[in-house]
Amino acid sequence: MGTDPQAQSWEDLSAELLSGMREWRLQHPKATMREIEAALDERWYRLRARMLQDVALQSHAADWQEAPAAERPVCRVCGTALNQRGKRWRQLKTHGGHSLTLQRSYGLCPTCKKGLFPPR
Ligand SMILES: [Zn+2]
Repeated sequence: MGTDPQAQSWEDLSAELLSGMREWRLQHPKATMREIEAALDERWYRLRARMLQDVALQSHAADWQEAPAAERPVCRVCGTALNQRGKRWRQLKTHGGHSLTLQRSYGLCPTCKKGLFPPR
């Protein structure tokens, strides 16, 4: 492998998952159920993390600066609509230890003066 997963399309990653799994099976004809599961998970999580990141970035909730107050995320403490304070990169860990990076709108509560990433 050695290719950058960010540069690969979903199609590339899923084809790699399928062919990689077939190849792995040929190389491990006596693998136990647990070993097969681990090999599958490792490949599957790579695709999963990538899809999760791409879909989350397309999400409407990623940008709410233009939204009217009623549609903006609210403060968890007092319920006031948050003011967007730019965007920050947020690194998350997903299943299988794969990290994904999301650009999320960062909000500030005008009442509590606390900044937070709104939930989605
Ligand atoms: Zn608040």
